[in-house]
Amino acid sequence: TLCCFQVIRCRAAVAWAVGKSLSIEEVEVAPPKAGEVRVKIVSAGICCTDTHVLGGLFPNIEFPIIPGHEGAGIVESIGEGVTYVKPGDKVIPLCIPQCGECSFCLNPDSNYCIKSHLSEPQNLMPDKTSRFTCKGKQIHHFLWTSTFSEYTVMPEYAVARIDAATPLEKVCVLGCAFPTGYGAAINTAKVKPGSTCAVFGLGGVGLSVVIGCKVAGASRIIAIDINKDKFAKAKELGATDCINPKDLTKPIQEVLTEMTGYGVDYSFEAIGNKDTLVGGLS
Ligand code: NAD
Ligand code: ZN
Repeated sequence: TLCCFQVIRCRAAVAWAVGKSLSIEEVEVAPPKAGEVRVKIVSAGICCTDTHVLGGLFPNIEFPIIPGHEGAGIVESIGEGVTYVKPGDKVIPLCIPQCGECSFCLNPDSNYCIKSHLSEPQNLMPDKTSRFTCKGKQIHHFLWTSTFSEYTVMPEYAVARIDAATPLEKVCVLGCAFPTGYGAAINTAKVKPGSTCAVFGLGGVGLSVVIGCKVAGASRIIAIDINKDKFAKAKELGATDCINPKDLTKPIQEVLTEMTGYGVDYSFEAIGNKDTLVGGLS
């Protein structure tokens, strides 16, 4: 239908330059080209990685950019040759795509598709152009997701189709925080029943680690954060002890050793702070 070829005007949160806060702008979102889909984003989550983008921590990110990589939405239109989804389908944008053909996608031990940003910067669509403009300027995509826009365009292989009955405001965390944290406990660390775990940082990622440790049968889950407001949620999800390092007079690693005898079996860093990593090793 004709609508598929129309530019959509909508609101998006644009980061114009490193160190600048997001500003809500009216943007134009071009129609999807061959192999691409345009999605109406219904819900988006804020991951700390988006904050790292604003702070200029990624060397290969180009500004201006529309960040956001956690989200859920509804396919609005599809480009030529798209068969995986149709308009009206509910989808989750994937910041790590799934081309299904590269050696990483075909390897059962990995899912780090080689089309991901480590090999191919996802600041432009695969044809090296952008679908976003604002005030006459080209705006970059982020990880091919840019979920901080009411409409976004993605390659077909960067969305996962989900059940029509799914509540989009709940599943948006499946785009990043939950698989990162839960997968770290279940797939990467392979936490064993009866073990003791420490989780540093209780944001979306850390809380998902707590869930993973509990599901894996850990008998003690020590949750650590400098913000005590995070503790109620952590306990609800399975943390057995909550510690605020600010309340301590000695280093957290000494306290953990005293609490456990020899230290924990598994330790997870879900802050993104190199000092925490170094402290955990000393
Ligand atoms: P978040 O900001 O929601 O949560 C971080 C938590 O750490 C906060 O609760 C904060 O109070 C706490 N914290 C900060 N400094 C601390 C300290 N010194 N000691 C103890 N707690 C401290 O962040 P998030 O969205 O959960 O992301 C966490 C990290 O994971 C970020 O660095 C993010 O970039 C990274 N991340 C990586 C991946 C991936 O590798 N696939 C995916 C998502 C997020
Ligand atoms: Zn993320």
